[in-house]
Formats: sequence, structure tokens, C-alpha cells
Amino acid sequence: MTKQDKLQAVIEYGVKKEYLPYKDPSCLIGYTKKENKFWIQCGMGGISYHNIYELIFSHDFAKAFWGKGDRVVKEHCPGCECGGDIYQQKWKHHLQQAVISEDPIDYYFKKIESSNKQP
Ligand SMILES: [Zn+2]
Repeated sequence: MTKQDKLQAVIEYGVKKEYLPYKDPSCLIGYTKKENKFWIQCGMGGISYHNIYELIFSHDFAKAFWGKGDRVVKEHCPGCECGGDIYQQKWKHHLQQAVISEDPIDYYFKKIESSNKQP
């Protein structure tokens, strides 16, 4: 699986978890492998292209992707060495981990892999 495939999956997962660009229901978001950017189109407006880190390090995306629960247990931490059991909003914990990880995209992708394993 290429980095781009992983990124595509990360963005799709965020959308499935109801991430909405600018919290505007008229906006659509997607990923273009060719440019390695994500795009946003709102209403009848034009398409704008953005750097992928702008998305995955944004608080709104992280909130949707990781969830807002205020306790992180081991099962929430597939790509993390912390061992879980932390009282901190999930999205904040994982965003911090993603920022310091060697490969933030991989860190996000591990979450998708682990949620696919659960029945
Ligand atoms: Zn953790």
C-alpha cells in the first residue's frame, strides 16, 4: 500500500466520521493522488487545493477522526507507545502523538487498520 493509498483512506475515514470542512454542509472534500493534495469545494464555488498536513494536523479533522471522548485507553492507542489510560481528550492525545511521530500519515492509518480488525 502506497503512502497515497493510506492518505486516501485517512481522508475517507475522516469523512465517514463526519468531518465537514469549515463545518459547512455544502462543502465536499477529497484527495487527489496526482497532486498529493486534498481538495475542498463548497457550494457552487471553485475547487481549492491544500497541503495534506494542513488537514491532518487541523483540530477539526483530528476531532472527527479520533473522537472527542475524554479518556484514552490502551485500545485507542494502536500506533502509540503510551499504553493508554490517560485522562485527556482522545483527539488531543492522538494529534500530539501524530505530530511527534516519524510518520504522521502512518500513525493515522494504524487507527483505521485497528478499527477494521474489530468485529
Ligand atoms: Zn496513546
